[in-house]
This record gives sequence, structure tokens and C-alpha cells, in this order.
Amino acid sequence: MTHEINRRQALRLLAGAAAAPLILRYGSALAGSTNTFPFGIASGDPWPDGFVIWTRLSSLPLYPGNERELPASIPVDWEVALDESFRTLVQRGRTQALRQNAHAVHVELHGLQPGREYWYRFIALGERGPTGRALTLPTPDTRVDKLRLAVASCAQWERGLFSAYRHMAAERPDLVLFVGDYIYENNTEPGSTQPIARPYGAPEATDLAGYRYRYALHKTDPDLQALHAVSPWIATWDDHEVLDDYSGVWSTDPNVSVEQFQQRRAAAYQAFLENMPLRRPPIGSNGSPQIYRQFRYGDLAGIPVLDGRQYRSRQPCVAPPHFGKGHMELSTCKDLGDPTRTLLGFEQERWLYDNLRTSKSRWNLLAQDLLVAPLRAHKPDTGEDRYWTDNWDGFQAGRLRLIENIRDSRVANPVILSGDYHSFWANHLYERPEDPDSKLVAPEFVGTSITSNGPSYTAIQSVLPDNPQIRFFDSRVRGYLSLDLTPQRLEVRMQAISDRMDPKATVSTLKGFVLESGSPQLNEV
Ligand code: FE
Ligand code: CA
Repeated sequence: MTHEINRRQALRLLAGAAAAPLILRYGSALAGSTNTFPFGIASGDPWPDGFVIWTRLSSLPLYPGNERELPASIPVDWEVALDESFRTLVQRGRTQALRQNAHAVHVELHGLQPGREYWYRFIALGERGPTGRALTLPTPDTRVDKLRLAVASCAQWERGLFSAYRHMAAERPDLVLFVGDYIYENNTEPGSTQPIARPYGAPEATDLAGYRYRYALHKTDPDLQALHAVSPWIATWDDHEVLDDYSGVWSTDPNVSVEQFQQRRAAAYQAFLENMPLRRPPIGSNGSPQIYRQFRYGDLAGIPVLDGRQYRSRQPCVAPPHFGKGHMELSTCKDLGDPTRTLLGFEQERWLYDNLRTSKSRWNLLAQDLLVAPLRAHKPDTGEDRYWTDNWDGFQAGRLRLIENIRDSRVANPVILSGDYHSFWANHLYERPEDPDSKLVAPEFVGTSITSNGPSYTAIQSVLPDNPQIRFFDSRVRGYLSLDLTPQRLEVRMQAISDRMDPKATVSTLKGFVLESGSPQLNEV
């Protein structure tokens, strides 16, 4: 059955790696990685008696379509231990890396003890891969005193180096919440004046080979590998894992049919699932993988992880010249407040609201991809109100349902954690979202990007006086959110790196907030 190959054949298969042009170009990116495991390892989606461990075998050099150089099936052994030196092995097994999955391997472990650290590694083609740290969740009825989280989004390869990931790794968070844009499908347009930190070496990703290449390239980065090796990830996607600003089954291009776009989307989703340490997702009623899901970290934190892309209604106010692209839209456009439109999809809404109503967790952290708080900006010439269409401002009735359901569920200490906007935000979500005299329902934090360009600081600053729900905003820095949670309080640090072009970039805390249990009020540190 097994397609065994011996070590000599394996070495021949993998030979020449160091001489490949792309590898030379990214030579430093490969320091510390191996020939068999050039993309490192990862763990994720922990549960009380296990977690997913991941790796992806490859032959180098890295270029689109190179997966054919490996046999169709390669045996991969895995080991899980109680200690980093693997003196106390608790489980081992064998699986197969299959060409049809781009030689990615997901092992879903069971039978481990809840609420503790484990170490894992893979062995394939005669080579032992790097060692990773994972953890099991404490059971939901376990009293838990603390949880350290890091929240990240938006890692555009071309825009900078992944120093933010390196500094996240140094914090050794218990969990990484990744809220979208792990890759970017598109390339910087030719002729752009944007400085390019490092090129993709491939055209825009539009098919399975293209998306697989994107993930492979990112995963050669040592800073990203370090973060995956040290902490389990809980990840969701946003638009750039497929196509900038797509909405549900609709492309942004009016000339691309729903059928054509669904094919592209399915390829992109497949590559995401191959390359991220997710548990195998159920297939939803639309025939596509369902990645919204719920985690409970002991009695301390419920973490619903949402999908803000797959089930959306079409983009609001589709018309030339924007068609399906995000844009600033006059508040008179009826789509913005249409209650028949949804950002989460009505099934996911129902699932979330049921979850909130039944949650017994002391804190409830909603991890999702898009800014929830409103941002109203007037048109400079006419003074008319406008909203950005691609986030919750484009789905305002859906936002109201979300906020009202959080309020009515009486869920303890709801906090929203968001991505996409390439900037730090701390917001108050009111029951009437633009009325700070109405009931405060939940705070929201938006992490900035790992590397992607932020929106104009001056443009958004200039409209903040009209938006008192926005308590803090800064788009000038790259970085991530660092969270320390106890039963009594949540501390949030906005961690900024010094320079995304500098491989030795340092990190500092730009701003800190504290929430006390029982109050949604943001307190500046
Ligand atoms: Fe982004
Ligand atoms: Ca996005």
C-alpha cells in the first residue's frame, strides 16, 4: 500500500534545494528549516483531550506546482510527549502525506490530559522535523485563573517582514487568534510606488496551485514558523484568502459569474484548510466547509470564532464604478440598513445567538474579521454622511441584530476582537451604535496588521469627532494585540513594531486598556 522510498531516493528528490533561485532570494527565510519540513509545523484548534498537529512536506525549490515532485503518498510518523526533549512519549502514530492534499498532514489527537502543555514532532523521509509546543484546553467546568492571548491579522508578504510574528512568539501566548488575511491573493500593481519588501515571484493566486504556493511561500518565513511552533492557533479567514472584498458567492468583478467565482472560492478554501492547523470542518448546508466554531477555555473564556465572508449577502449598493468593491457609500443607499441582508448569514447568526445565550463562561471573546463599530464620514463637498461598505457598516441591520442579541443574551463580559482594518481601534458598541447616550453593550478591539498598509491616519482622525464610539485609533504602526485575561480583568496591549522593513524590528506597547469584569467600559492604562 504505502509508497515507501528509501533515504537515498529521498535525498535525490530533495537535492538542489539550496541552489534554487527563489530560495537564494529568500535564503535567510529558510534558516533553521529543513529540506523535508521547509514550512515548519503548527498546532491548533485545541480541545480538552487533544488538538490538531500540522505539517506539510515539500521538495524545494519552491515554485507553483512543485507538489508533483514528491510521491503521491509519503508515510509520516508523529510523536507527542510531555516534555520538550521527548523523554516521556505519550502517543505516536503514522499517517500519510498525500499529493492530493499538497502533502499537508493534519493529525487530530485524542486521549490526552486536559489543560496542559505537550510537545510534538514529525518524522518523514528519514528526517525529523522541528519540535512544537501545543496545549489541550481545560475542561469547561475547570476553574481557570489566567489566559494569555495574541490577536493578529493581515500579513501581506510584499509589504514587510514578519517581525510582529516573532515578537508574538516571544510572548508565548496560550492561544493565537488569527482573524483573517493570512495571505493576500493579489500582487502590487505594476508601476505602483509602494515599496516592496519581498516579491511573491508568482502572479495573483486564482486557482489551487496559486493559493497553495502563497501559503508555502509565507510558511518559509522563520518568524511565522516560530509563532506556529510555540503557540496553538485558532484561525479564521477574511477576504484576501480568496479575493479582495468578495462577499459570499459574489466576486467583485461583475464579469465573473457566481458559478465561476464559487470554483475559485472552493480552491482558496481548500488551500486554507490544507495549510492551517484547523480541525477537519463539517460541510455546511451550502456544501462548503463551515469554519465558524466555538472554543471554551475552562470556565474563563468562551471564544466563538466567526466567518464574516462565506455567508454574506452580496456587497451593498453594487453599481458602477465600484460594482462589488468596498467603497464609501452615501447613507441614503437602502442596502446599508436592509434587514433582509446579513454579514454572518442567518444560520451562523442563529448559531452565534444560541451560543451566547447558553454560555457559562466568565468572559466571551468573539473573534471575527471585520470592524463592528460604525464609522460615519461626511463627504467633504456636500457634507452628506457616508459609510464604508465592506465591513459591518455595509450590513447595519445585521450589526444591530448582533448587538441586540449580545445585550439580550446577558452573556458575561462580551468583547469583540476584529481585524481587516490595518489599524488599532478601541471602540464602544452601544445598543444604538452611533448614540453614546444609549446602553453600552460591549467593547471592541481591532488589531493592526502584521505588515499591510494602514488607512490614512489624518482622514480617519478628522472624522473621529463625529464618532464618539471610537475611543482610540491609530493606523500608523504594524503589530498585534496582546491580551491577559483573569476572572477579574482583561488587559489589552496594542503592540507595535518599530519598522516592518527591518528584520531586527523591536516591539513596544503603543497603548493599553483594562476592562473590569462586569463592566463593558474601556479604561485607558
Ligand atoms: Fe488585510
Ligand atoms: Ca480584509
